[in-house]
Amino acid sequence: MALPFLTEPARRTEIGGEYDVVVLGGGPAGIAAAAAAAALGRTVLMVERYGFLGGMGTAAGVTNFCGLHANVFGAIKQVVHGVADDLLARIDRLGGLNAPHLVLGKIMAQAYDTAAFKCAADDLLVSRGVDVLFHALAAGVTMDNERRIEALLVETKSGRLAMVGRVFIDCSGDGDLAAFAGAAFEKGGADGAMLYPTMMFRLNGVDAEKAGEAWRTIPALMDEAAKRGVRFPRKGAIVRPQKHSIEWRVNVTQVKNADGRAVDGTDARELSAGEIDGRKQAIDFVDFLKREAPGFAGAYVVDIPPQLGVRETRRVTGRYQLSAEDVLTCASFDDTIGVNGWPIEAHVAGDVAWRWPDIPGSRGFNHLPYRMLTPQSLDKKPIENLLVAGRCASMTHEGQSAARVSGGCFVMGEAAGAAAHLSLAGNGTVADIAIDTLQETLEHGGAYLGRDV
Ligand SMILES: Cc1cc2nc3c(=O)[nH]c(=O)nc-3n(C[C@H](O)[C@H](O)[C@H](O)COP(=O)(O)OP(=O)(O)OC[C@H]3O[C@@H](n4cnc5c(N)ncnc54)[C@H](O)[C@@H]3O)c2cc1C
Repeated sequence: MALPFLTEPARRTEIGGEYDVVVLGGGPAGIAAAAAAAALGRTVLMVERYGFLGGMGTAAGVTNFCGLHANVFGAIKQVVHGVADDLLARIDRLGGLNAPHLVLGKIMAQAYDTAAFKCAADDLLVSRGVDVLFHALAAGVTMDNERRIEALLVETKSGRLAMVGRVFIDCSGDGDLAAFAGAAFEKGGADGAMLYPTMMFRLNGVDAEKAGEAWRTIPALMDEAAKRGVRFPRKGAIVRPQKHSIEWRVNVTQVKNADGRAVDGTDARELSAGEIDGRKQAIDFVDFLKREAPGFAGAYVVDIPPQLGVRETRRVTGRYQLSAEDVLTCASFDDTIGVNGWPIEAHVAGDVAWRWPDIPGSRGFNHLPYRMLTPQSLDKKPIENLLVAGRCASMTHEGQSAARVSGGCFVMGEAAGAAAHLSLAGNGTVADIAIDTLQETLEHGGAYLGRDV
């Protein structure tokens, strides 16, 4: 049903600041983008709607980094470095980083404490001189012309502000800035279906000794219970300890609309219903654990995060879309900015479907090409001073099911920050930067581009 409209009065908007680089969104991609651009001497503004950084990693309680590693011909190695190393070291110094753990016998992930991630990310950006504007919701842009963004409009407690920039990096996860600027984007796969969101939660009071390797035994308990008619939102439950083993994270809910479609994280009404349903699913699952899982009788929910975990919404269309084939064949690109070693992890109705490159017969990672970061408008012309990084970068639905995890987002963000700097050193057009200079700059900053295997 089309809603009626009214016309707002025209307004004058205060200029809140002028920066070389304006980054929207403080998730893994945005943290890396802001840190990289500032380290190269640019004035940088980070705009984030919450009062803390981390994106889905903190706001949605993900508490676990995937995609930092790859299974390289049978040996699992960390393949994402650069800014990520600095951030990991800061989380570790706060005592909030677990040792990496094996996932499905093929790859590694690394859990962390939410509070430590937030504090380490503050510390990282402040130490590099980034100006951080929290509690600022991006609500629009003004344009110099149809190819150049002039300012990002943000709604804050101090009123509406225009943040003027020379280059803008959209790390909002949802492609908000790119959509405001008229960039082309897609949602979902061929049938329009997006990955399902999940309400994460954490438990305290787990008896770790009795629980044992619960991440192996709980899926079997769920299968047995399902035969007795107990209903679960999805298979593939992840129930694992954090660094301190009284605390466990649970990744099992799956949030959908009444018609079975995934809740759309860019639709306020669907999100609202999804938040309520996600919390209800969490409580129902805890009842099951307390009743049936050894070691969980005394467990209680210590945290339901500020928001529903959204995996996929807009994917902004750039000059190249990373595809499933690229992930599964470990594709190489001349304009590599780093690598993705995470497989396709598709959150489909009622389940999680995994697809892997040949392990251990391949190098286990694909290159991420710079062209994924350069958005185009609907008429396929570049928006000259806009980059996009993270889960809303240019990927097909299946490509995004892999490279959306934190490791790939750190890689894309760092490259976008460095590319913003290089475009300002040149003619200010992000698509025209010299790729070999970008690659040298990234390697100089410690990034791994995957060109040796
Ligand atoms: C339930 C769930 C479980 C997951 N599990 C894992 C896992 O175990 N390991 C892993 O590595 N990855 C996991 N992921 C994926 C990963 O967390 C995300 O893909 C990753 O965080 C994306 O990073 P990003 O920086 O692109 O965007 P996001 O993390 O989404 O960050 C975007 C930021 O932009 C801000 N923002 C958005 N719009 C606006 C606006 N208009 N104005 C102001 N600020 C705005 C948001 O508040 C947020 O801070 C999971 C995701 C979900 C949802």
